[in-house]
Amino acid sequence: MSSNVNPLSYLLKNIELDGNNYQYYDISTLNPSKYERLPFSIRVLLESAVRSCDGFQVKEKDVQNIIDWEIQQKSNAEIPFKPSRVILQDLTGVPAVVDFAAMREAFAKLGGDANKINPLCPADLVIDHSVQVDFSRTVLQKTAKSSEVINAICDDCAGSGQCALAKTLSKNSIPLKRHPLSNGLSLNSTPLESWQPLRPHISHTPNNNKDSLKEQLIPSIENLSLNNGINPYADSKLKHKTCPFHRLKSLGAEALHRNEELEFERNKERFEFLKWGANALKNTTIIPPGSGICHQVNLEYLARVVFKSDDNILYPDSVVGLDSHTTMINGLGVVGWGVGGIEAEAVMLGQAICMVLPEVVGYKLVGTLPPYATSTDVVLTITKNLRQLGVVGKFVEFYGPGVSELSIADRATIANMCPEYGATIGFFPTDEKTFQYLTKTGRPEDVIKYAETYLRKVKMFRNDYNDSNEDPVFSQVIELDLGSITPSVSGPKRPHDRVSVSQMKEDFQQCLTNKISFKGFGISSDKTKACIPFIFDGKEYTLSHGSIVISAITSCTNTSNPSVMLGAGLLCKKAVEKGLSVAPYIKTSMSPGSGVVTYYLNESGVTPYLEKLGFDIVGYGCMTCIGNSGPLPEPIVEAIDKGDLVAVSVLSGNRNFEGRVHPNTRANYLASPLLVVAYAIAGTVNIDFETEPLGKDTSGNEVFLRDIWPQRQEIHEMEQKCVIPGMFKEVYSKIRYGNERWNQLNASNNLLYEFDPNSTYIKSPPYFDGMKAKLSKIESIHNARVLLNLGDSVTTDHISPAGSIARNSPAAKYLMERGISPSAFNSYGSRRGNDAIMTRGTFANIRLVNKLMSKPGPYTLHISTGKEMSVFDASELYKSEEIPLIIICGKEYGCGSSRDWAAKGPYLLGVRAVIAESFERIHRSNLIGMGIIPLQFMNGQNTESLGLTAKELYSIDIPDNLSTRHRISVKLDNGKSFEVIMRFDTEVELEYYRNGGILHYMLRQLLNKP
Ligand code: SF4
Repeated sequence: MSSNVNPLSYLLKNIELDGNNYQYYDISTLNPSKYERLPFSIRVLLESAVRSCDGFQVKEKDVQNIIDWEIQQKSNAEIPFKPSRVILQDLTGVPAVVDFAAMREAFAKLGGDANKINPLCPADLVIDHSVQVDFSRTVLQKTAKSSEVINAICDDCAGSGQCALAKTLSKNSIPLKRHPLSNGLSLNSTPLESWQPLRPHISHTPNNNKDSLKEQLIPSIENLSLNNGINPYADSKLKHKTCPFHRLKSLGAEALHRNEELEFERNKERFEFLKWGANALKNTTIIPPGSGICHQVNLEYLARVVFKSDDNILYPDSVVGLDSHTTMINGLGVVGWGVGGIEAEAVMLGQAICMVLPEVVGYKLVGTLPPYATSTDVVLTITKNLRQLGVVGKFVEFYGPGVSELSIADRATIANMCPEYGATIGFFPTDEKTFQYLTKTGRPEDVIKYAETYLRKVKMFRNDYNDSNEDPVFSQVIELDLGSITPSVSGPKRPHDRVSVSQMKEDFQQCLTNKISFKGFGISSDKTKACIPFIFDGKEYTLSHGSIVISAITSCTNTSNPSVMLGAGLLCKKAVEKGLSVAPYIKTSMSPGSGVVTYYLNESGVTPYLEKLGFDIVGYGCMTCIGNSGPLPEPIVEAIDKGDLVAVSVLSGNRNFEGRVHPNTRANYLASPLLVVAYAIAGTVNIDFETEPLGKDTSGNEVFLRDIWPQRQEIHEMEQKCVIPGMFKEVYSKIRYGNERWNQLNASNNLLYEFDPNSTYIKSPPYFDGMKAKLSKIESIHNARVLLNLGDSVTTDHISPAGSIARNSPAAKYLMERGISPSAFNSYGSRRGNDAIMTRGTFANIRLVNKLMSKPGPYTLHISTGKEMSVFDASELYKSEEIPLIIICGKEYGCGSSRDWAAKGPYLLGVRAVIAESFERIHRSNLIGMGIIPLQFMNGQNTESLGLTAKELYSIDIPDNLSTRHRISVKLDNGKSFEVIMRFDTEVELEYYRNGGILHYMLRQLLNKP
């Protein structure tokens, strides 16, 4: 057990700054010659190990392994790492807060003070994944004539909603399409006609009565992925159009307002629960919906770069997040990556996470970006290069003179797409630019001062990227000349399939006829010219292969970067001035990752031009990036279906696999915000910008993309002028105060959460039922049945799917019994706060191959009766018979993205052990975290070689004196037996297991604390 005395405390040194005394562990003196060769990212891991060394969770040997990184990096050495903080988003954050609520309940029942159950390190939860683009320019633009859009702000009330006309309209409950005094407003519109985001064509059917139109509208809304069946037209209250976030004038605020209103209606229950978490849990900050995107808020506000403990010890900021793009923060010199729920909860509970000491690929950047290239083009190029190299499980660290050419926002864009190039992190060590950014974003002066002083002292500060003497040693090195970067997009189906814009037309045409693959749609050559007419808003248009129907400036990847956002604004300005426009049927939108973006776009004067081309702000959140792109107008969908068209979305996001962005866009291209606008104007990806014009100016002259593309210098000057610290201070000084809707939510301040037994979203999980304060003897497993007999590479998505809930599934039955109609089922992902649904959804993947069954599907054989049934029903039957369960499987059990429910679900099904040929590393520790034993077949053995039918009864005697990697015998009822290795790899894991899992371990630790 922990001695709690740090044997390395002799490394503590003092710093005195402006009369304040700080301490820090001077790890640079531990072994200077080895230390200075370590990559900067590894120095962060080393500092954490040194500071946390307690002889139990972190041992001196772990510290030594990290110092010996050059030798140990290829040995698969496991090391503990204690990140400084955790960041969560709402989809994955809800189950974490549910677990804390359940722990408090259990702790109180055991006689403890529930007030002790809190995250032990800072946990920030940003609510950003729920808002959808239900309302967008395809509605709003149709009544606003282009000449009326610019500067159409009410002079009477300056957008406050207090003018006489607004009040009259409010009284009569007539929703506004635009600001009351903009000429585009149609006062005669009925509420329904005024707000028709989904089926704009109904404006061409004036004889339709209101009720029948409603009937048409509701189903398409109910089919949305995150929708819970609420009709947005049922409660069309008038709210004025000022931006609710900043009270800035914004023509797009109607869409923004309506989308946020729907978001709150759909997610009220989840939001109220999270608000309880914000009120009741210490160390927890919840950033309300409508504030921004977690990674951008992290970059601009939450990241500390250097932490200061309560006793004034300085140490590097580091973070794990419940979102894969947590990596973005590495652009600011903060080591951070995405993890699963159980690891994140472990960190919140003060535990170290276990990781393999990684190899570090050095990515040398040289040269300077050409005037027409953007950071998005750089990251798409890097993604392609690193995918080709293969960096899964490795760190990537950027170095070389080219790094000093990149702003922090550029570096963050590159770090963001780390999951797409497959590395654990894409790290940029801190340098002067880091501290310029901290100043620009309004971080306090004293923090900046101690952070820089500390990082310089421990040699984690890069003085000069041009000085190769500062370059550390890397496992492998590759190089990129920034001067070679050309404007690029990636697609049509994967983020690493980069296409140079100059090759785009040719590439798309090839993709059309290529057989179905990542670069093919299998369209027969006689159908490539299909052209389908449709009517939209009273006019006829046509769609063909390559037509753009969604165009979105979205995603923290880019909206955190003023250069590309202002670049897009400038491009819009030049396009509008030339008289160019975007076809009205294209669903254009802009969803920034923080209010600062609104601020500087307004300040620079580009907002009206963005809006004129349809890039109104539709919300502050993930929106199109996460696939919350909302429905397309019906005539568009019909035209796509009719022609079997490969319709296109172009977005500034980071993922584009089929079905992610929108079910009707088979081709999805990732691009810079500038190119998003350019392709929207063109209306198609079937264009060669070099030789084909975007359109004609007011004098009839052809306008090419090069005529309106802003120069890098021009963007830079605008950025210098318009992006100022005051904006960040202003926006973030208000962020914790919430907003009107959030503040109106009813949430208790009670210490214990009062779970609503009728809720189908939030439920108290039964993990702690029957838990005793004292450790009880570990029970051996006797006469267990095999619940599933699986093969190789069973993923966490097979185990716990995140997608839709099938109507004939046990989860559907549960929901229907509680009066929830199929249209309101929502996805498993959004139901992670309800264990009853998630348990029923465990192994509910239709592609599951269970060798006990003759065909794939979420079924198994109840062995004693010989009946086939759902996995959940079988587990219930076994439970009623008091029969313990095990799972047998092949190699890489639990691969795929780390998912806590892939361990929680089997635990709640009654699974006591999993016997596999090998385990995915994090999933193995998640199983232990939930009290399930990972057992590994001896080398070369498996079900076939051992002649197992999986219909035997299995018994495993678990001794009291367990040790790490203990060998144990599995006995069958037919008299046979075989040996397996218990994959408890560390003492800490054994301790978790003895306690029944990590949550139980923590409860007992806290109970025993004075
Ligand atoms: S904007 Fe996209 S990348 Fe960023 S957090 Fe949201 S879903 Fe993830």
